[in-house]
Amino acid sequence: MTGRLDCAVIIIGAGPCGLVLAIELGRRGIPVIVLEERTSPGRFPAANATQARTMEHYRRLGFVEKIRAQGLPPDYPTDIAYFDRYARRELARFCLPSARTAREIIKSLSGSWSAAELPHRCSQMYVERVLQREAQAQNSVSIRAGWRSVAVREVNGAVEVEVERSGGGVRATLRASYAVGADGGGSATRKALGYDLIGESGVVRDFLGGRMLALYFRSSELYAAIPHARAWMYWAVNPERRAVMVAINGRDEFIFNTQMRPPLEPEAVSDADAKAMFQVALGARLDVDVIARSAWNAGYTLVVEKFRRGRILLGGDAAHLFTPTGGLGYNTAVEDAVNLGWKLAGTIKGWGGPALLESYETERHAIATRNTAYARTFADSVGRFVPPRELEEDSPAGEAARKIAGDHLNGHARFEFNIPGITFGGRYDGSPIIIPDGTPPPEDSINDYNPSACPGGRAPHLWLADGRSLYDAFGFEFTLLRLGPRPADAVPFAAEASALGLPLTVLDIASDEARGLYGADLALIRSDQIVAWRGNGSAGAADVLRRAAGHVW
Ligand SMILES: Cc1cc2nc3c(=O)[nH]c(=O)nc-3n(C[C@H](O)[C@H](O)[C@H](O)COP(=O)(O)OP(=O)(O)OC[C@H]3O[C@@H](n4cnc5c(N)ncnc54)[C@H](O)[C@@H]3O)c2cc1C
Repeated sequence: MTGRLDCAVIIIGAGPCGLVLAIELGRRGIPVIVLEERTSPGRFPAANATQARTMEHYRRLGFVEKIRAQGLPPDYPTDIAYFDRYARRELARFCLPSARTAREIIKSLSGSWSAAELPHRCSQMYVERVLQREAQAQNSVSIRAGWRSVAVREVNGAVEVEVERSGGGVRATLRASYAVGADGGGSATRKALGYDLIGESGVVRDFLGGRMLALYFRSSELYAAIPHARAWMYWAVNPERRAVMVAINGRDEFIFNTQMRPPLEPEAVSDADAKAMFQVALGARLDVDVIARSAWNAGYTLVVEKFRRGRILLGGDAAHLFTPTGGLGYNTAVEDAVNLGWKLAGTIKGWGGPALLESYETERHAIATRNTAYARTFADSVGRFVPPRELEEDSPAGEAARKIAGDHLNGHARFEFNIPGITFGGRYDGSPIIIPDGTPPPEDSINDYNPSACPGGRAPHLWLADGRSLYDAFGFEFTLLRLGPRPADAVPFAAEASALGLPLTVLDIASDEARGLYGADLALIRSDQIVAWRGNGSAGAADVLRRAAGHVW
């Protein structure tokens, strides 16, 4: 590599993916420049749910409580409720805990919800503000707001990113060892690499398949107009106008999403028409103040053909596009960043071998394909359900129609919004840096998570006797767990880690419960809390660590 570098990694885009990647790299002292074409943080709600696994990563990074404090008041329920129209009849409801209750009950949950954190339901714009502050607090991270990447290429063992001030004018060229396109669904980085998105787009459904209008509004009277218990998510299901509305601050802000019927495009809708659409879904006259509007497409199940070319990588929406059912787009974007962060750092610091960075694509492409498919399943379940014509009649036929709708929607809500299997059950089987032990991985399931230390999956969680999460005791990089009352020999692992320059924490958990949960005396846990290997002795320590660090091809 020749010439001066401006930093080690240039991240293009300061959305959730870019910011979490900056935090992961910053925590490891890697010099990073984040380019963001916007001059101020997003003021539109966008995603509404931070899944439990993402919350576990925020806990690992030290700011989960700042996230849990965002959005709705601490005692506001996060119910999902379905109505014919919001001010009329309730059809179905799935009750979910408030932020305060979530924090309390997690310590007593087991089975599918044996976890350090429960989900947090709050808007992405609040989350991004916390992520931005956390990224800015890293000494080695520089966020350049108002700077746009206009070209990216690999030149002589480095990357060059041409940048310009948003609005034109000043231009410059930045050089780094790597560049990551976290520049969202329209990713210019993906286009520069010439990679296509593969899958489905343009799916048509009764709801959540087509062009969507998002209306972000303020009303201090809406709660009083809805004669039902408060909810976090309000679905309107009727033959005239289907919509989903989400409570933003628990006082007076809401985001209302409804589908356009072709040929109407959301951009062609006036504020007055948008408000009228809201009133149809509400079933009452109520004027609201428009804060902002947006248009989006429902019906994507798209994954980029490749996540990497040489020193240029893609993550987040640049690499996959979802229909938001299941709330998986932003969460998959964050997990891309988590997966890539420690691998890029290990490669730059020199302890990582070539398979380390290569495994990013193997691992995350499979998860993107899995998660986009699950999101489509949810969109089909709710969006292809056509409300019976008699749904709103005051008649026996109307009663029967509401029973049909209620049964379907009650079942659907539990299907889409209770997803520990998706959240915790993602696996990296077949990755070059996972060392299988010959045991079969647990079955992939949407609603059930089966804790298992079979290498390739999330490290099973438990609460320690002192009240901490097991994850709180892990090291920041690799952790060798010695499980059970008679700790196995860790010296060969420590020696090989030291020879490789690989940071390794040895952690003793003496309980029989932990030994039983992991099914082995030893387990090697990666920085992202994935089991890389498990076994009952240290004889193959050198091979295990060399493979986990990407030195075996
Ligand atoms: C209505 C709606 C509801 C949603 N609900 C959910 C949900 O509940 N749960 C969920 O998980 N997901 C949800 N999503 C999806 C979620 O918002 C995205 O998946 C998420 O924002 C992806 O994050 P990202 O960082 O990859 O990309 P983005 O958030 O798009 O960030 C990309 C950033 O790159 C910047 N950028 C772009 N080009 C350049 C350039 N050339 N130079 C510099 N900067 C650039 C952009 O300004 C932007 O800040 C929803 C989306 C919508 C539209």
